[in-house]
Amino acid sequence: MVVHAVLLIALALIVVRGMGGGRSLSIDAGMTDQVALRDFDQNTLETNPSEANTEASETEVVEIKIPFPESPTLGAPSESTPQFESTVRAASSSDLRSMTNLPAGGGMEGRSSGRRQELLEREGGTAGSEEAVKRGLEWLAAHQHEDGSWWFDLRRGPCRGRCRHSGTVGSSTAATGLALLCFLGHGETPEEGEYSEVVRKGLYYLQSRIRFTAKGADLQEGTMYGHAIATLAFTEAYGMTQDPTFRDLAQSAIDFICAAQGPNGGWRYSPGQPGDMTVSGWQMMALHSAHLSRLNVPHETTTAFSEFLDNTQLRYGALYRYLPEEEEEKPSPTAIGLLCRMYMGWPRTVTPIREGAAYLADLGPSRTDLYFDYYATQMLHHFGDPHWESWNEKMREHLIRTQERSGHEAGSWHFGDPHGDQGGRLYSTAMAIMTLEVYYRYLPLYDTRAVEFPY
Ligand SMILES: [Zn+2]
Repeated sequence: MVVHAVLLIALALIVVRGMGGGRSLSIDAGMTDQVALRDFDQNTLETNPSEANTEASETEVVEIKIPFPESPTLGAPSESTPQFESTVRAASSSDLRSMTNLPAGGGMEGRSSGRRQELLEREGGTAGSEEAVKRGLEWLAAHQHEDGSWWFDLRRGPCRGRCRHSGTVGSSTAATGLALLCFLGHGETPEEGEYSEVVRKGLYYLQSRIRFTAKGADLQEGTMYGHAIATLAFTEAYGMTQDPTFRDLAQSAIDFICAAQGPNGGWRYSPGQPGDMTVSGWQMMALHSAHLSRLNVPHETTTAFSEFLDNTQLRYGALYRYLPEEEEEKPSPTAIGLLCRMYMGWPRTVTPIREGAAYLADLGPSRTDLYFDYYATQMLHHFGDPHWESWNEKMREHLIRTQERSGHEAGSWHFGDPHGDQGGRLYSTAMAIMTLEVYYRYLPLYDTRAVEFPY
């Protein structure tokens, strides 16, 4: 019986070939009701043998990309496949062929002043959380150097060491990129908003730090972290302004990321090294943002990164390790891995995503590890309830409570996790601001209500 069922599944239709970004499936044209994901526990593959068509293997096999998450079937699990949503039924294969291989949701349309307030209320923010974001942005603006840069080292520049917890990392592209992401996340652009001049100067500074190479625009200043964060600032600036200068810079910086991918499909501190999950997470955020802005992200890059995720996962994709060769899962890599899986097209109803969300919710929020909190908050926001509401309330109130209220530090944060020591107060503040911007910074991935582009 088991052999028979496995044979039917194998013969019928559904051959999953990794997932180039979104799921890239080879699926038989005659059969669109069932989706099997290679990585998952066989127990979760509750296909009904009576529905399988053994003649299907003789019919034309077409390659499709799941139209995720815009499919109208989202949120309505298929009755015939209780563990999975069939996201392919609604569209014809010709529609599917024309779709790109990463999901198109999770965009930046919620940042405009009109949408921001609406989303803040709808997604679980409060007047208090928004005030905290504004105080944070004020602190960042006050710590921008004359030339538009930010530095983790607070002993120099306008702070002159008046704030405690200077960071030790030397990369000004990472520091400037992080600060810019906070402003961009709040809808501030070089053209619009209270901080337009701050953003314009910051982007201009980043532009001045580019090393143009044969493999694209290099913004590393010593680390691929810095490169990815600065690239993300350019892709977001382009997505929000449609300014062709940013488009060219962003595309060139994205090209550099693709060229720097390691042999295991991930990224590490230097180009070409076998990747780890945390450096890879930032590259993936940049690639996803580029994809949303219709920049070119090669299929091979996302396919290779899928393989990296496959080799780093445990429990069929519910948990993730820092490196493929490590034994145990870790909290931050799990949050990053799950978020990448969602960006790359895994429905939120599949077992590994649900198990992973429960794992994150059980762990936190952390009181000190803002790196974990930042990714887990995004993952759980996209995932939604039953975990989001309770996580959000704890996370939001913890950050509001721990923000500095007096002196030069007013509006900033510092947490003593390992990243917090290296990046210091500037890093902690940027991560806290972006965590509190979660309500509108990226639209919910699985929300079909979010479709307009005010930018
Ligand atoms: Zn200061």
